[in-house]
Amino acid sequence: MKLSNYFLPVLKENPKEAQIVSHRLMLRAGMIQQSSAGIYSWLPLGLKVLSKIEQIVREEQDNAGALEIKMPTIQPAEIWQESGRYDDYGLEMLRVKDRHERDMLYGPTNEEQVTDICRSHVKSYRALPLNLYHIQWKFRDEVRPRFGVMRGREFLMKDAYSFDLTPEDARVAYNKMFVSYLKTFARMELTAIPMEADTGPIGGDMSHEFIILADTGESGVFFHKDWLKTDLITNIDYSADLEPVIHKFTELYARTDEKHEPDNCPIKPEDLVEKRGIEVGHIFYFGTKYSKAMAASVSGTDGKPVDLHMGSYGIGVSRLVGGIIEASHDEKGIIWPEAVAPFKIAIVNLKPGNVATDELSETLYQAGLSNGHDCLYDDSKDSAGAKLATMDLIGIPWQIVVGPRGLERNSVELKHRKSGSVAEITPEMAHDFMSGQGRLSMPEADISEKDIPDAN
Ligand code: ATP
Ligand code: MG
Repeated sequence: MKLSNYFLPVLKENPKEAQIVSHRLMLRAGMIQQSSAGIYSWLPLGLKVLSKIEQIVREEQDNAGALEIKMPTIQPAEIWQESGRYDDYGLEMLRVKDRHERDMLYGPTNEEQVTDICRSHVKSYRALPLNLYHIQWKFRDEVRPRFGVMRGREFLMKDAYSFDLTPEDARVAYNKMFVSYLKTFARMELTAIPMEADTGPIGGDMSHEFIILADTGESGVFFHKDWLKTDLITNIDYSADLEPVIHKFTELYARTDEKHEPDNCPIKPEDLVEKRGIEVGHIFYFGTKYSKAMAASVSGTDGKPVDLHMGSYGIGVSRLVGGIIEASHDEKGIIWPEAVAPFKIAIVNLKPGNVATDELSETLYQAGLSNGHDCLYDDSKDSAGAKLATMDLIGIPWQIVVGPRGLERNSVELKHRKSGSVAEITPEMAHDFMSGQGRLSMPEADISEKDIPDAN
């Protein structure tokens, strides 16, 4: 993408309304535009990140055996009256009437809708296990929408729903989702700690919140220091018995402050870490609560009807955009993990109009494109300083800076946003870098001394 053809409305000043860094940076980087309180338009750069996160979530749901569907945003009130939640949900639910005066609502979640699908089609235990998910906009009229996309009123959620014959089978389904969440967040380079949670208004008897660490998080959290070991979540195979795996994780203590009892804490003080965190996912097992209320049963192995055992599994897809920024930024701007970066590489032409820089920049850009690298070519007339600041603000992981003075010495600069390391490389090496398939990396020998990154 050439910047001259793109829509990237970056802001020079810090927007006053933004209280936390992710909100500030998303506005400054031209990712979102507020429409009304807690409701946002997603601009090209923001949408690209949102879609990448959504795709990782989708792939890991698919890997865990869940099946994607798409349920509507607008639901009929009847199914909520059946489950008994139409009145209980209160003011958070946006209620509307259609032209025939029928009560409708903008879905805050989909237990009722998916239970209705299941009871219409699943009649026998042979169709089980079943796990259906969708990635869809939700509306909750939050009392205090704030922090940008972190607590919006309209937000994108992945919600999956499992249906099983027995509590034991439902536990297998729960464990798969538990593991798929660990894999999902690890791909975004996030440490998301599963914390035993209250089951709240959804009810039930098993629940974990997945919490990423950030100083601005709404939840206080306590956990065993081993959670911070980066190699904790290694390859876990779904064909293995997941019970011991889950046990290994849940043995490690992690609780939100609501559930943490300082006097009864089993962890030695020296092993206990206290931090703040952001809830990015929440999984529940709630048994037959909805299947009983909504008559969703199947014929069991002996032919008798059995109420389905259900779980629901949410991930805050749009909240994750803000959450990742909270976890990964510096004073210059966003530092995207490569897997969710809007563009992996930027080519910065410091002097458009200069024959040498134009020619090399264009060649590098084309090399990148033809090798499947999603790159942004800054061919704008902005000042060199503004260009470099923008690339750091929007967090592009790899930046190749092409300037006339460098070219006189036959060199361009390769910069790695995360470590801050900069290498002087030849145009030929830059070309190799752009056309190289697979993982991008710094040519070790050329990293300038001053920029050797801190180990992290
Ligand atoms: P919270 O305690 O933060 O209100 P919740 O328990 O209401 O969350 P769930 O109903 O479990 O959330 O929804 C699943 C996921 O959707 C949450 O883990 C969170 O990541 C995301 N989410 C919930 N409410 C919002 C919101 N208002 N804005 C953005 N994301 C949200
Ligand atoms: Mg809530």
